[in-house]
Amino acid sequence: MANFRTHFGVALGGGALAAYAGWQASLWSFNEGWPLAILTAFGGILPDIDSDHSHAIRLIFTLLAVLAVIAGALWLQSRLAPGPLVLACGGLYLGVRYLAGAIFKRFTVHRGIWHSLLASLLCGMGTAAMSFHLLAQPAPMAWAQGLALSGGALVHLLLDELYSVDLVGSRLKRSFGTAFKLFDYREPGNAVLWLLLGVALAPWLPPWPTLLELVNRGVASWS
Ligand SMILES: [Zn+2]
Repeated sequence: MANFRTHFGVALGGGALAAYAGWQASLWSFNEGWPLAILTAFGGILPDIDSDHSHAIRLIFTLLAVLAVIAGALWLQSRLAPGPLVLACGGLYLGVRYLAGAIFKRFTVHRGIWHSLLASLLCGMGTAAMSFHLLAQPAPMAWAQGLALSGGALVHLLLDELYSVDLVGSRLKRSFGTAFKLFDYREPGNAVLWLLLGVALAPWLPPWPTLLELVNRGVASWS
């Protein structure tokens, strides 16, 4: 397993590169680009969100609080005057960073429900659905944000896999093949939960053709 700092650094670096490339290819503006990098970094530590390391949880909830403030500001800016808006954003930050963090810590045990391909994909779909409906983002942007989160989480799983290979020789450690899995085969209940969530999410997703179009434009800008 790669350590926390590696996960965060690689995902942030990868996310920043992808955000920069998309900006250069005019897939999005600069201001739309940097939240994508943050989302990727967040995705990069998401699979370990229920790990026992307190610094991981602290950073995760700090990032979540930043994302909540961005989302809250987007949603509230047309509804509140500047003064109350700043207060509301401050409250959101403190609420997510400390209250939600404390509640989460109290009620979770490390079961690895977030540590799978299925979870990574569905968290991305959830992100796309939320940004499309709650934040009224255009469909391509909503998909880009979902892809950023899923991409970060996939990088995490790949890194865990790479680190289970002995870097000097070709000897495989016992954990090889356990990280990059569709779901935890010892916990089939988790997969069922994620699939149910996927079914519930389906009607809320931005239109699928927009995703294909975004991917095509992304691929075309590389070739
Ligand atoms: Zn991991």
